[in-house]
Amino acid sequence: MGLGNVVNMSGSPGVNSFNSLNSFNSVNNPNNAGISVVTGFNGFNNIVGQKEVIGRLKNSLKRDMVRHAYIFSGPRGIGKKTVAKAFAGMLLCSNPGENGGCGKCLPCRLFLENTNPDFCVIERNEASIAVDDIRNMQNDIAIRPLYSNRKVYLVADGEKMTVQAQNCLLKTLEEPPGYGVIIITTSNYDALLHTVCSRCVKYAFVRNTDEEVRLVLGSRTGLRGEELDFIVQYADGVIGKALDVAASGEFMSLREKVVDVILQLPGEGLKKFFEICTFFMENKDNIDKILDIMLLTYRDIFISLFRRKEKMPDFADLKLDFTSSKLHFTGLKDKTKNKISDAAVSFSPGKLVANMETIEYTRRCIKRNANFQLAIETMIIKLQEG
Ligand SMILES: [Zn+2]
Repeated sequence: MGLGNVVNMSGSPGVNSFNSLNSFNSVNNPNNAGISVVTGFNGFNNIVGQKEVIGRLKNSLKRDMVRHAYIFSGPRGIGKKTVAKAFAGMLLCSNPGENGGCGKCLPCRLFLENTNPDFCVIERNEASIAVDDIRNMQNDIAIRPLYSNRKVYLVADGEKMTVQAQNCLLKTLEEPPGYGVIIITTSNYDALLHTVCSRCVKYAFVRNTDEEVRLVLGSRTGLRGEELDFIVQYADGVIGKALDVAASGEFMSLREKVVDVILQLPGEGLKKFFEICTFFMENKDNIDKILDIMLLTYRDIFISLFRRKEKMPDFADLKLDFTSSKLHFTGLKDKTKNKISDAAVSFSPGKLVANMETIEYTRRCIKRNANFQLAIETMIIKLQEG
């Protein structure tokens, strides 16, 4: 993960100060512009983790073996853009140090001000990066760099490129100008065309340890105690995810609601079924978080059950990690904790495991663009089964 965090990466899509790139701005809605700029610049110094990726990037620069095209692949929030921007800063610097640009040369100063015309970010808030975005980029890459020996392009969330856009990009990947470096970040590598992937060097970003997440989250947000424990657990090694949750005040209340929904599920009638469906439909945008919370809740119930029975030999070989029970019930109100404890008796261990599998299956269906309502209804029916 990165310090997508330490660096202020809020790079608001839409703001771009490069005269040469005005064509990227949408006249009607500047927020829709295809290019955004970065704020801040700390090189690799403040990036926690990703040692292998960073080591390889630094090495390639040191040995003058920088490639024309990279794919940074890994979960959303892991720090791909942060690392890409740090690398871009070094690539443009006239005199880069071990971990970042010098901060003093003209390219660095412009980079820090987000006005270096040799660095462009192609990023879309919308669902897709269109072929026109890539064409604009190609028009721009044809112009030689102004202040450096290189020009760096960051295509953020590359999986958003339409097939047409990817095919268009392919032309540049096949014959890049000598000074061009293109970095594509993606949380869904499989959505990229094989032909695109085969022309890029892939760097896989790995999850951080809980301790690393805790360190960054604690120092950045001041969170302590159970809430910190819970978010660290929830973030599952992705610092960006932890910071995102910490910043959204709604999350903890969403958790209470989801726990309520889960506890209402078993054996309830049709009226309840529709109520619960409505809850999911109304919170469609948060579905990933909700499914995560559901998993954690079933895990809490499982642990609660385990504690009651003291041992559960039949499930000893399960590949589910229930050993770190110190995080049990973290961040929940007492009332909810009691509800979970009480509910535990009405679940069998087998049913809990089946429910967790159902949730993961539903998540995969939704990711593959299955009909949302149908996927949710099927899940609820399965969870309601005794
Ligand atoms: Zn410099």
